[in-house]
Order: sequence, then structure tokens, then C-alpha cells
Amino acid sequence: MKITVIGSGYVGLVSGACLAELGNDVICLDVDPRKIEILNNGGVPIYEPGLEEVIKSNVAAGRLRFTTDVAESVAHGLVQMIAVGTPSGEDGSADLQYVIAAARAIGSAMTEYKVIVDKSTVPVGTADKVKQAVHEELDKRRIKKSNNTVAPSPSGGGLGRGNAEWDGSFSVVSNPEFLKEGAAIDDFNRPDRIVIGAEDEQAIRVMREMYAPFRRNHDRLMVMDIKSAELTKYAANAMLATRISFMNELANLAEKVGADIEHVRKGIGSDQRIGYHFLYAGCGYGGSCFPKDVRALKRTAEELGMPLRVLQAVEDVNDAQKSVLLSKITRRFGDNLKDKHFALWGLAFKPGTDDMREATSRVVMEGLWERGATVTAYDPVAMKEAQHIYGARADRYRMPML
Ligand code: NAD
Repeated sequence: MKITVIGSGYVGLVSGACLAELGNDVICLDVDPRKIEILNNGGVPIYEPGLEEVIKSNVAAGRLRFTTDVAESVAHGLVQMIAVGTPSGEDGSADLQYVIAAARAIGSAMTEYKVIVDKSTVPVGTADKVKQAVHEELDKRRIKKSNNTVAPSPSGGGLGRGNAEWDGSFSVVSNPEFLKEGAAIDDFNRPDRIVIGAEDEQAIRVMREMYAPFRRNHDRLMVMDIKSAELTKYAANAMLATRISFMNELANLAEKVGADIEHVRKGIGSDQRIGYHFLYAGCGYGGSCFPKDVRALKRTAEELGMPLRVLQAVEDVNDAQKSVLLSKITRRFGDNLKDKHFALWGLAFKPGTDDMREATSRVVMEGLWERGATVTAYDPVAMKEAQHIYGARADRYRMPML
């Protein structure tokens, strides 16, 4: 199948490379010429274990290409997968400017039926906004407005039919991604489930075909309405963040009462109703997903006049937890840390990735700097990213003398 992936970041590159590995003909588009140049020169702009090998072999096999050319990428794929960023806006809501720009790019150049897949994490109602943006672009080109439903054709014929007979129809599908950075290739290839939110049979058929290799053992595809699919992604991340904040709060209590949270974790994790996952106490969750997705879900609920009280607590506990280490340091050494030098182990928000978005290390490191301390930090894969964020300062990201 011909597939275009729009956005060549953590999700887009992994999805594109893995779909190419399955035999599809994939083009990855990005607006960042630096990223595309690195990829076209045989490099990979992010760190994700195993990704470089999958990209290399599929580029060599002619199944994977990278471009900044919108017309070429829109013309290519029957499936147009949007995997651009959805960062937090000022009010905590998901900023949809990149998703809508991608939708407009598709609408401005498409000349035949396309299945537009929202893989980015987007709030309920975004599929309608994507549809609207595409329609507006088609209107500008005076392409007849279809009601967006596609007549079922048993042979699957009609897909990719030529310009002359195209009636302006397209489908929008929600297909949220659940991969974890650091294990993204494995997660993409062995998903617990594939959530598809769709409202027309043709789009569902295309999604079933694209994901057919994942369904051989048992059907992992869950087809539902679009809004439920959009909400499912936020619900999953909110639940995982809740478990982390719950354990962090309990860990602080354990410290006060003289209990060991590790014993408590094993004691409750062994209960099958609870399970072991996401019960580790630590210095607060960070990364490119949990913080922004918790904020966005809260914002959606606030806009509807029903604030999510549990999630507010999850966020409050996490914000406080990110400063726990720093509080321990100032309790021990006082608030003036001039002439003190600290070793910081780990910069990324978790192991196996170079992603430092909302990483707790940043709160700790910046807090130490503010109090006059110097820091030698080390991370096996995020040193470059740290230098990219903070600049190259001799005292800051040295490889420690071991
Ligand atoms: P990212 O920032 O790594 O990558 C996004 C890419 O999109 C960037 O390279 C950017 O240049 C590009 N882009 C922006 N606008 C574009 C446009 N109009 N056309 C083409 N390219 C464009 O983001 P990411 O971490 O891959 O996340 C992408 C989405 O997937 C987000 O909604 C995120 O919440 C979701 N998600 C991320 C993860 C994860 O672990 N990173 C997991 C599941 C879901």
C-alpha cells in the first residue's frame, strides 16, 4: 500500500519505518528541512533503539523515502497519516496548528480519494476540524463538495482512481498511537490494540488492510466511533499518569511513616486487579506525552464545565514531586549552593530515549544552577539534546571521570 506519513518525529519516523518494513511503499514528509536532510544523508535525527537499522534497510530496499515536498507526498499515499506534534497551548489545551496545517496541505494538493488518518494525539472533535480544513481547501480549488462518505465498492476499486472522475470525497480516521519511546519499534510491531475511529466502510477496509500483518495471531483492531477513539488515547495516558502520581504520593507518606515503598509496590502489584505496571515511585513523570495530555484532557473537561478533579490532583502531585529532589538538597546544604558541584545521572525523561521534553532532570538542573551550583551531567543518549537545549557549557555535560 502507498502510505504518506506527515511529520517525521518520534511517532512519524517509527510508524513510517515499520510500515515500510511490512512491505508498504512509504514517504515521510516533514516541514523541517534539517531533519529531512539528515535522513536523506543516511542519519536519524532522533534516538530510538533499533530505528536506524529499520530505516537503513528499507531505504536501501526502495520502500522508504523522505521529503519536504508537499505535492509529492500528497500525491503518493492512499493513506495520509498525520503524525505532527500537538504541544500544549498557553491555556493547556492541545495546540492543533500543526495538525490543521497538515490537513490543509493535503486538501490543497489532493486529486483523488485519500484516507486521512489522525495519528497525533488530538482532542475529541479534531477529526471534524480536519475534515473542515480539507473541505475549505477543496472549496478554494472549486472541487465539488462531497458529503465525505464513499460508496462501498466490493473490489476496493475506486481507491486511487484518477482525477477526472474524483468527486472530492475523502475519509478521516482517528488512529491514536500508543507506542512508548525507548521501545517504540517493538510497541509498534506488537501493539496491545489498534484503535480505529471511523465512520465509513471504505476507510475501515483500508485500515484493516494496512494493519493486516498485525492481526494474524488475533484481531487487535478495535473499530469504534471517531470521538471514542480520540478520547481513548487521553484516557490511557491519564490513567497511567494517575498510577504514577498515586505511587509518588504514597512514597512520600511511606518515607514519613518509615515504610519502604518498594515493598508496598510489590505487595499491591501482585494483586491481579492492580498489576505491576506504572507503580514505580520516582521524581515525577515528564516527557512529551503525559504532562501535555493530562493538561489537554483537563482543559477539554473545563471547557465543558465539568473539571476533572482526579486529574487535577494527579497534576498537582506531579508538579510537587519534580521538586522533591531539589528540596532534599536544599534541606541538606541550604539554599545557597555556590561552590557546590553536583553529578546528575540521567537527562532524558526516561531511559532509552534522548527526549528531554518536560524531563524532571531539567527542573533539578535549572534549580541547582539558580542556586549557584555547577553540574556535571551524564546520559548515555541525551547529551546532544541537552547541549541543543542549554548550549555547550564546559561544566554542564561532561562525561564524568569514572
Ligand atoms: P515530534 O515533535 O517528535 O515530531 C513532530 C514532527 O512533525 C516534527 O518533526 C515537525 O517538524 C513535524 N511537522 C510539524 N508540522 C508539520 C507539517 N505541517 N507537515 C509536516 N511535518 C510537520 O512529535 P512526536 O513525539 O512524534 O509526537 C507526534 C504526535 O504523536 C503528538 O500528537 C504526540 O502526542 C503523539 N504521540 C507521541 C508519542 C511519543 O512517545 N512521542 C507516543 C504516542 C503519541
